[in-house]
Amino acid sequence: VKVVFLDFDGVLNSVRYHRARYESGSDMHEGRGARPCLDREAVKVLNSITESTNAVVVVTSTWRTGTPRVKLSEWLRDAGFEGIVLGATMRFPGQPRGAEIQDWLDQAAQHPSHRLGPVTHFVILDDDTDMLDLYPKLVHIDDEAGLTAEYLPAILKHLEG
Ligand SMILES: [Mg+2]
Repeated sequence: VKVVFLDFDGVLNSVRYHRARYESGSDMHEGRGARPCLDREAVKVLNSITESTNAVVVVTSTWRTGTPRVKLSEWLRDAGFEGIVLGATMRFPGQPRGAEIQDWLDQAAQHPSHRLGPVTHFVILDDDTDMLDLYPKLVHIDDEAGLTAEYLPAILKHLEG
């Protein structure tokens, strides 16, 4: 299986997206804080990644905390995501995100219970850089614009390599 470790804030939304929502007044009409605001344009880019590589998503965003996988999946689907949410990383408060991702990979290697087979390729999409030894697997997303098509070549290189 190929895996996209996915952050939400700064990746599936952006400074630009929040500014546009604020200026249009659309963020006044929705409950804020209860669910992430996800940019459908960024989700389209995510769709093109998962469609062309058959990769699945593992959520690393802090939005996963206390949120069942079904709910994470629903949030993404509501924003237009057409792929599969396999799960989320465990939360180790105070530890770098790279440690949480490494733990997920270790668990998947020891207990391949998700029936999709071993992880052959993966990429990390995040606007932060605290990935420890996994830093080479990071495609660092600029939170000003979030995930855009310009990152596709770098992302696909990780998943097709
Ligand atoms: Mg982020």
